Amino acid sequence: MAQLSNQLLEQIVEDSLPYASDGEVRPVIPMYDDTKKDVLGVTVWTGEEYFHAGRTDLYVPMQSTAKIVTLMLALNDFGKKRVFDMVGMEPMGDFFNSIGQLERHQTEKPFNPMINAGAIATAALIKGGSVEERFERFMTFIRQITGNPDLVMSEEIYEAEKSNGARNRALAYFMQSTGAMIMAPEEALDLYFRTNAVMMCTEDFARVGHFMANEGRDPETNIRLISPEHLRTVKSIMLTSGMYNSSGQFAVEAGFPLKSGVSGAIIGAVPGRMGIGIIGPAIDAKGNSTAGGALVKSLSNELDLNMFGVI
Ligand code: GLU
Repeated sequence: MAQLSNQLLEQIVEDSLPYASDGEVRPVIPMYDDTKKDVLGVTVWTGEEYFHAGRTDLYVPMQSTAKIVTLMLALNDFGKKRVFDMVGMEPMGDFFNSIGQLERHQTEKPFNPMINAGAIATAALIKGGSVEERFERFMTFIRQITGNPDLVMSEEIYEAEKSNGARNRALAYFMQSTGAMIMAPEEALDLYFRTNAVMMCTEDFARVGHFMANEGRDPETNIRLISPEHLRTVKSIMLTSGMYNSSGQFAVEAGFPLKSGVSGAIIGAVPGRMGIGIIGPAIDAKGNSTAGGALVKSLSNELDLNMFGVI
């Protein structure tokens, strides 16, 4: 087993960066253009030490990585029974924004909270008197778990999410028709779009991963912000559904909970060991960072991170 060091990370970044050319940056993200394609950065946070390599200065929108934060908050607010009355726990073979899955499988609720339909339904379970108040609670929670009071939402990304949101609107309105939404669709969508637009760097993503990997404690006060049961639930669903339709492959090749977003961000939570934050904006057809995915797999091999055994 290799020793974790900046040097090791630099070597893995160098070896993984060529995979960026297999992907494309998502055109609807305003600050992304081809100059962001051949870029890769990683931070590992062990709770005692940070390790960095590559471009760790970039800030990108959370996009789908926000889904795990939404789920943690909804579980805190409503408990497991109520949350999973509204959304399933099962992996889904369709694309993350599939509309067909809602009808074809004759289910009234979305498959899981890691797909768009599921995350919109879960966002509706964040308590608050208004969208603003609900989002403020999301921001308070994410600032707390990262220990970073400076995190903010990008207005530009939020506007882009809204104006490119036709498909998500279709999902929300369809769910309203089946009774899967407990909130007005436009309000749940507004909240969902805002969560997608929160900006983070690799260190912030690593800190979310570390929070989840280590009992969900506030990094400042050491107080638990989520129960062990809820945390285990979220990490289990990350393992089975966090990497879109490549979740099975990542469970085999990396072997620990991960969540990706179409901004090319990946959060990794290696139980009891470390949080990993990656940004590699070029993504594959399923939505995962190509270079970031290669990096995760190498890191797992080099450091024996697979929870299911080392070889
Ligand atoms: N914001 C985009 C959407 O809602 C992408 C989310 C993601 O990262 O999968 O469709």
